[in-house]
Amino acid sequence: MSMTCTTCPYCGVGCGVLASADGTIKGDPDHPSNFGRLCSKGSALGETITLEGRLLAPMVNKQRASWEEATALVAEKFSAAIKEHGPDSVAFYVSGQLLTEDYYVANKLMKGFIGSANIDTNSRLCMASSVAGHKRAFGTDTVPGTYEDFEEADLVVLVGSNLAWCHPILFQRLVAAKQARPDMRVVNIDPRVTATSDLADLHLAINADSDTALFNHLLAEIASRGAVDDDYVAKNVNGFADALAAAQDSDVSSTGLSAAEIEDFTKLWINTERVVTIYSQGVNQSAVGTDKVNAILNCHLATGRIGRAGMGPFSVTGQPNAMGGREVGGLANMLANHLDLENPDHRDTVQTAWNAPVIADHAGLKAVDLFQACADGKIKALWVMSTNPAVSMPDAANVAQAIENVPFTVVSDILKDTDTGALADVLLPAAGWGEKSGTVTNSERRISRQRAFLPLPGETRPDWQIICDVAQKMGFGEAFEFTSPAEVFAEYAALSEATAKFGKDFDISGLAGLDEADYDALKPTQWPIRANGSTTERFFADGGFFHADSKAKMLPVKPPKHAENGETFRLNTGRIRDQWHTMTRTARAPRLNQHLAEPFAEINPTDALRLGIKDATLLRISGEHGSAVVRAMITSKVQAGTIFVPMHWTAQFAASGRVNHAVAPVTDPVSGQPALKGADVTVAPFEAA
Ligand code: SF4
Repeated sequence: MSMTCTTCPYCGVGCGVLASADGTIKGDPDHPSNFGRLCSKGSALGETITLEGRLLAPMVNKQRASWEEATALVAEKFSAAIKEHGPDSVAFYVSGQLLTEDYYVANKLMKGFIGSANIDTNSRLCMASSVAGHKRAFGTDTVPGTYEDFEEADLVVLVGSNLAWCHPILFQRLVAAKQARPDMRVVNIDPRVTATSDLADLHLAINADSDTALFNHLLAEIASRGAVDDDYVAKNVNGFADALAAAQDSDVSSTGLSAAEIEDFTKLWINTERVVTIYSQGVNQSAVGTDKVNAILNCHLATGRIGRAGMGPFSVTGQPNAMGGREVGGLANMLANHLDLENPDHRDTVQTAWNAPVIADHAGLKAVDLFQACADGKIKALWVMSTNPAVSMPDAANVAQAIENVPFTVVSDILKDTDTGALADVLLPAAGWGEKSGTVTNSERRISRQRAFLPLPGETRPDWQIICDVAQKMGFGEAFEFTSPAEVFAEYAALSEATAKFGKDFDISGLAGLDEADYDALKPTQWPIRANGSTTERFFADGGFFHADSKAKMLPVKPPKHAENGETFRLNTGRIRDQWHTMTRTARAPRLNQHLAEPFAEINPTDALRLGIKDATLLRISGEHGSAVVRAMITSKVQAGTIFVPMHWTAQFAASGRVNHAVAPVTDPVSGQPALKGADVTVAPFEAA
């Protein structure tokens, strides 16, 4: 059986996979992300390929319909809403599961032809604070380094990242590097002890959301101990004095760490030149996420430890194509190719390249605001693509009601029975992993091909094709006459050629003119890929930032006040090792379900004793808007006053365990990212009604 070279559809590591139609799965030894390795989820991909539960034909009002009927109805309803209520009365909510080509046409339709920027994505829940922090500091959304930096660093600092479970192959690379170089040091900054902590020489069980206080303290010590790279700062950085003043004004005691722990960390960081700081959802999913990101970036900018081998800040993304979505402008506050909605030259160039009748000129609704607008009756037509917000959004029960409140809702998905699909007027059957082709970009800016190795089942279609069909029926014919993902990618690369004049970081103009054969043969490759063939492996070693004066900005950031509250618990939600998001695929693999079979709450022994909760009994977690019932797992891995609950379970698998029902829709004011790790809840033994 021949094997097809493709990419894993789960996390942002972006591992290369060899797959065949009989379900055989192997790691691709030639892919530079994983060199043949696969984690438990990736290696079980073959077991998740099944037609059970698949949506195989379009449905209108729960009745089978033809594609012609269904897409004509979608086009008619969206067109009518726009005509009657204006372009901002419609919205798309899309997904980091979409391929770049799907994202590209969805964004083109919404921003260039409908004329609204109401397209946001579940990646808003994953890395929006990193994007905003990058833009504030660097002038654009640039990840400066590469995965090799993890292996070449002498000190790796993991902040709010359970890399061992959430990005397992990167963790395996780190373990191997540490075994090969025993002098390498690893620091794990996380309120909770996780599998990642096992690798750490130093685990700092920091109070939640006190990362800014810790990194501000580090910046102040960098300055007082003479470790600032004065030359680098003078040439390449603005805002040093203000950032330092804010840092000196911070109180590190809010971290809850001992003076000895803080000093160990400070000395290690300052005395090690090759330092990489890796951060993830523990930093991003917070009401102060963007400030936390900038507190980390400040330390790297002050020391010039950025863009050189083994040095730099590094945001690891959750979704397989969170990065690709950012590139094509799949966020409500971005244009394509890292260009700015607010910039008239940027808008004109994109509009001209698309030959579009309009172009959105103001930011659209970010995820939480988008569903609030649904609840408020402002959205008249909504299209949810490849995601399940009725489970995954904070305040999920109210999000479900908000979707129900929209006069016309379309859901395109691979499954017929999702919590969100149950609310749809029209269900459109999408092709799944292994059935469609395109590209994804991983956390280190590497574009890889996903290739089909299975026939399209039933009447399913790739997302790009579904979107183009609706766009054509809305009267935008020529601009959406693509016949293959290669054609979409070619236009995207040509757009990059047109926008290269702005000198932004994102540039794939070197791929313009790719034909079908070139596209099919495309090897994993990191952007930028410029028209003259040049690239940049790492950014910013010699400055060259993307603000107008080519300098970076250090931001004065203040830590939030640490509030002790004896009444409520701080709820931390997250992933477990063997499930992916709302389990629509991973739950189909028996061996993945064996790891942790049901929803649970890690609770500290002192809290359990105080509340009379026994191990493995049920407890109720209640927020302002809803509650979840899960099994207690008593462990000192979580601090007193906090609990950890995985986010995966849906109505299909454990209705009572939908933890996002208890999470309030609080967001970071800069990035709009929800604080999925920072809800105030009460906890009590469960008593059946
Ligand atoms: Fe897939 Fe991520 Fe595992 Fe790699 S590390 S195999 S991309 S889930």
